[in-house]
Amino acid sequence: MQVVSRATADRPTRRAKRSRCPHNARYRQQLPHPSTRRSVGFTCEGSLIERYTCCKNPNCRCADPEQRHGPYWQLSWKENGKTISRLLSAEDTAIYQEWITNRRRLDAALEQMRDLSRQAGEQILASRGRPFHGPTRPRQRRHSAT
Ligand SMILES: [Zn+2]
Repeated sequence: MQVVSRATADRPTRRAKRSRCPHNARYRQQLPHPSTRRSVGFTCEGSLIERYTCCKNPNCRCADPEQRHGPYWQLSWKENGKTISRLLSAEDTAIYQEWITNRRRLDAALEQMRDLSRQAGEQILASRGRPFHGPTRPRQRRHSAT
């Protein structure tokens, strides 16, 4: 006799639940190794900018610069040399914030790995009496808004 708890029987398995969404299925095929996904998560280009606005109604509280409407969050990114900005809903702002934080962590980790690899490469080849070939890496970190 098979014993299945009601909760388990009624709940779709994780696999079944995921496969229903065609986007998930499509992107899952292209995802990197699970350990990378767990440690980094999804990423997004651009940065969030806090905005306060004035509705131009002279009788509104926002006529006082200290009482403007907001905060609103704007996502900005560069595309073909131009800065593009879009206002985000409050609901989406948290999602974008997470993705952008993930991207910055990934960028920083990658940058660290490149520096470390360069140093290791130089040492490994020097120990064999050979020079390391490759471009000189800029030492300064990027802290730009992109
Ligand atoms: Zn106003």
